[in-house]
Amino acid sequence: MKNKPSILIIYTGGTIGMVQMPVSGILVPVKFDHIQDEVPDLNRLGYNLQVVTFSPPIDSSNMTPAIWVKIANTIERNYNKYDGFVILHGTDTMAYTASALSYMFENLDKPVVLTGAQLPIGILRTDGKENLITAIQIAAAKRNDMAIVPEVCVYFNSKLFRGNRISKRHADDFSAFSSVNYPALANAGVEIKYFQENIHHSANKGILKVRTQFDENVVILKFFPGMGRMVFESILNIPGLKGVVLESFGSGNIPTNRWMISLIKNAIKRKIIFLNITQCQGGAVNMGRYETGNELEHAGVVSGKDMTTEAAITKLMFLLGQGLDHEEIKLHLNKSLIGEISE
Ligand code: ASP
Repeated sequence: MKNKPSILIIYTGGTIGMVQMPVSGILVPVKFDHIQDEVPDLNRLGYNLQVVTFSPPIDSSNMTPAIWVKIANTIERNYNKYDGFVILHGTDTMAYTASALSYMFENLDKPVVLTGAQLPIGILRTDGKENLITAIQIAAAKRNDMAIVPEVCVYFNSKLFRGNRISKRHADDFSAFSSVNYPALANAGVEIKYFQENIHHSANKGILKVRTQFDENVVILKFFPGMGRMVFESILNIPGLKGVVLESFGSGNIPTNRWMISLIKNAIKRKIIFLNITQCQGGAVNMGRYETGNELEHAGVVSGKDMTTEAAITKLMFLLGQGLDHEEIKLHLNKSLIGEISE
């Protein structure tokens, strides 16, 4: 008889495990050690399920790089004991955590599936139960004794997405995430249908390595018509600033004001790295298309191509944390590390 799958569930917090306070009705995270009591159907899977609960569980709006490291270290410590990992996480910052984790692991050959819910699991109409059960099944799924989805991914509302390709698109729909620039890895209908051609398999099969350094001296600067010089200049003069994700218009355009371009050029001389991504939901930056984008390219701004904001800012923090030289960072920002950019 085959061994039963072993899955480690890491509960970090989020709506899925929250309860409503009696008087105010406010949702707060609670301990979630007895997941099987909340969802007795889990026993019917016949898997070996263990739960680690972070203390204190948090609303994911309080997520930090230190907690990304805690998640990654928990997986590393338990890597050989389990077939796959399910991370229960709030939806608000799930796209950032999934992106950050995707960069942190090298030689990952087991599934790391993040999921959560829009309604707590104790509520009758919860979406958490289906999300949790299917995420566990995906984490356990194997073909020829190999994990089917050996990457950091997010399962939500019947779709499995690459973790570094999603954005939260809705505050209350059950379909909370979109992955506009990359197709789904699987669809859970009557059966779970995996789309093999979309799934990443790590080329190097060495032992798992986890990189845990992030640099927080970064900012996201979203353009809008009428952005004033004072505001722009103050942001670029933040003490210690090392990197800026520019959320530009359309295919990577910003106003052609002389002062704006010269402030960017000046900051580049001070070794601040600029990564240009689009504020559109889909499509990519192409700085060669219009004069407004072309100036940025000549100034030395890096194209983030079709990366999401979440993938871009976490990648910048990650690369700045790795002790690489300036040019190496710029080179890596423009190329796919782990499927976050379409080549
Ligand atoms: N505020 C919650 C969180 O991100 C929302 C959720 O879990 O969906 O933790």
